[in-house]
Amino acid sequence: MPEFELIERIRARAGGRDDVVLGIGDDAALLRVPPDRQLVVAMDTLNDGVHFPRGTAAADVGWKALAVNLSDLAAMGAEPAWCTLSLSLPASDDGWVDGFLDGFLKLATAHRVALVGGDTTRGPLSICVTMHGLVEPGRALRRDAARAGDAVWASGSLGDAGAALALLDAGATPPAALRERLDRPTPRIALGRALGGVAAAAIDVSDGLLADLDHVCAASGVGMRIALDALPASDALLAACDAAARTGFQTGGGDDYELAFTTPPDADAAVRAAALGAGVAVTRIGEVVTGERVRLFDDSGREWMPTARGYAHFAAND
Ligand code: ADP
Ligand code: MG
Repeated sequence: MPEFELIERIRARAGGRDDVVLGIGDDAALLRVPPDRQLVVAMDTLNDGVHFPRGTAAADVGWKALAVNLSDLAAMGAEPAWCTLSLSLPASDDGWVDGFLDGFLKLATAHRVALVGGDTTRGPLSICVTMHGLVEPGRALRRDAARAGDAVWASGSLGDAGAALALLDAGATPPAALRERLDRPTPRIALGRALGGVAAAAIDVSDGLLADLDHVCAASGVGMRIALDALPASDALLAACDAAARTGFQTGGGDDYELAFTTPPDADAAVRAAALGAGVAVTRIGEVVTGERVRLFDDSGREWMPTARGYAHFAAND
């Protein structure tokens, strides 16, 4: 199928929005940005075999390609609006593209995101999405806003996706509940929106809790003390592995797409109200202190030394 037929296939299914003046079909899209909002832009790429296991169902790849980008907007406290999609495909496979769109557009529709353009090329399977959203000036949740004395929180549960990936790498079949977290992460958009004006700093947990909280520490010039025994775990993770493995996945497994955020010391009631409104559990996992990076302590006060802080592309041991 020629490139223009693939693009037409995509155009025919892409949803719209009132603020899309011109969508797919011209040299570029025209979008109406409200005068009282800041434009928030994020981009994430998924490469075959790196960001999803080879052979992942096309619909799951589509879902995840948008989800990881929505997660970045959630971590900024932004409301998603428009996206563009660059597809690099080894062959012009309309069945694969249809499946991809099933997952991608299901999530786009749920968040009222319009697909307004993109690029379609031949090459190794790779998907790149640019996500555009809107935020009220002054309300974005930035990595540089954590202060000593703040509380540190995490949404949902940690480690499920990392455990699923480890099981796959070992040749095992992960329990469905863990595999679902790897293939179909839930971007915490409603929580990110509700935390605007409540939270100080925020980040989405994509590379592993420690690695991502280290980014907040570096940007804010602070340290953190995290309570290992407070880290939230799903029932599926509790059932799948022992405590040592679980801690490893919760602190260093990637692909959680939960939010980690800090709040001023007196904000607990406001955080719980935000979480309730968003329908997402939140757990207080530690505090911001003076210092440089994240340190972990168990209930008896002993410091725990991680073997890995998270996933890094181009790391020496890759
Ligand atoms: P150009 O040569 O001007 O870049 P293209 O043939 O690449 O034009 O794209 C034609 C139109 O289709 C453009 O509006 C572009 O944004 C859109 N488009 C191309 N590929 C995709 C895609 N994968 N998803 C959404 N829109 C796409
Ligand atoms: Mg093009």
